[in-house]
Amino acid sequence: MQLSTPFQLENFIDGEFHHPANGQHIDNINPATAEVYGQIPNSSDIDIQMAVDAAKRAFSSWSKTSTETRFKLLNKIADLIDENLNELALAESNDNGKPIWLSKEVDIPRASSNFRFFATACMHFASESHHNESSINYTLRQPIGIVGCISPWNLPLYLFTWKIAPALAAGNCVIAKPSEVTPVTGYLLAKIAKEAGLPNGVLNIVHGDGPSCGEAIVKHPDIKAISFTGSTKAGERIASIAAPMFKKLSLELGGKNPNIIFADCDWDKMLSTTMRSSFANQGQICLCGSRILIEASIYEKFKTAFVERTKKLTVGDPLLDNTKQGAVASKVHFDKIMKCIETAKKEGGIILCGGNAVQVSGRCENGYFIEPTIIENLGSHCKTNTEEIFGPVVTLQPFYAVEEALELANATTYGLACTIWTQDISKANHIASKIESGIVWINCWLQRDLRTPFGGIKNSGVGREGGWEAMRFFTEAKNVCTMF
Ligand code: NAD
Repeated sequence: MQLSTPFQLENFIDGEFHHPANGQHIDNINPATAEVYGQIPNSSDIDIQMAVDAAKRAFSSWSKTSTETRFKLLNKIADLIDENLNELALAESNDNGKPIWLSKEVDIPRASSNFRFFATACMHFASESHHNESSINYTLRQPIGIVGCISPWNLPLYLFTWKIAPALAAGNCVIAKPSEVTPVTGYLLAKIAKEAGLPNGVLNIVHGDGPSCGEAIVKHPDIKAISFTGSTKAGERIASIAAPMFKKLSLELGGKNPNIIFADCDWDKMLSTTMRSSFANQGQICLCGSRILIEASIYEKFKTAFVERTKKLTVGDPLLDNTKQGAVASKVHFDKIMKCIETAKKEGGIILCGGNAVQVSGRCENGYFIEPTIIENLGSHCKTNTEEIFGPVVTLQPFYAVEEALELANATTYGLACTIWTQDISKANHIASKIESGIVWINCWLQRDLRTPFGGIKNSGVGREGGWEAMRFFTEAKNVCTMF
């Protein structure tokens, strides 16, 4: 399973590995060392056409495969992910810069859970029936055909499999593209799918950048649905291409999530969870709470304790067990985050801790590391508090009343997730009903039940993933009506 370096990844099409037709490649860089340690195909429409042809050949038999067979195959893939946990975790950390313990405890186990969850989902999936005095209707939920799955670099295998597993479970053939920044676990998944015995052409994994490879997937007329997770900007572009073709679209986009902390919260639980919701994965989780809103009466107490704990976070080599913060995903992203910190300063922000690049010694001396950063003294409408940074950077804002907290929380164009800390459940439920976001956590963060609807509102996306929502997205509903 392990790759020797430098490697040259290949596309997985029709059960075989292929170099890209145009012969073009992109460097693959380890962000913790800044070393080019491999190359990946920069695929074009020729490779996508090959994948579509393979998927077409596979579809008629895959769509008729019994749910029990699909269940067994998806479970087998999950088993193989579990068996290769260490190799996959190492690949993920080398590609993404995240601490290896995080890859081992979260990213890779979740990838196998995704396959196991949707393996069982296809066994339980059922459709509705509606009857009246003269007729009975039933809904056939049939696979769409060929679907495209495009994922980002922040949780590479975790989010890639979150799309692929339900698409396959529902009986579709898949053309999937991992992020060009973190392609390796996607490539290893292809090896696993082959070893598991997934029929040729059912899952095709192609590599390349957004404009060349991603758009070729979105534009292909025979790919009938696109499940995309990534930036709002790319989502907008994808929607502009796919909408006139009437493709089914699921768009999971950016966020600028509020974390609302009331004075009556469970202090210890709130503080330790807020550390995670601010800085886990270097703040590069779409669900991280990047705007921390604190009831004024505990603002100073919170600020002191939060800054003190943040200063203790060890930034360093992702492969060391005591590292709490690894590298950010790429040089481009490093530059973007550092620019956002400069903007915050220009907007009048006071840096309470962090704000600088970190020079790590040894093998990571050239890597892209940033201190966890806390900023205060900014209004709710400035760039820093309205635009997604997607890094280890959070802001603090005080509030005096519930309605003010709500106003601040809703003051962005995004609407993905929100966290509320209070012992007053009525207050929490009131905010939950008024908040403009698709996900609300009360006294917790990132508690995930895979059956729940997952997604955002406003500029955070369209559609929901998870549970039956995903199974419904990856099927077409056909109503059949019979007169009595
Ligand atoms: P990105 O939009 O740059 O890229 C995401 C994927 O889309 C990559 O595979 C990329 O190659 C592809 N892509 C880019 N442009 C494309 C185009 N025009 N056509 C087709 N494909 C294209 O995002 P990123 O930088 O990889 O990821 C970070 C972003 O993802 C952040 O905005 C973050 O909030 C978001 N995100 C959202 C969720 C969610 O569930 N809402 C989860 C994780 C990440």
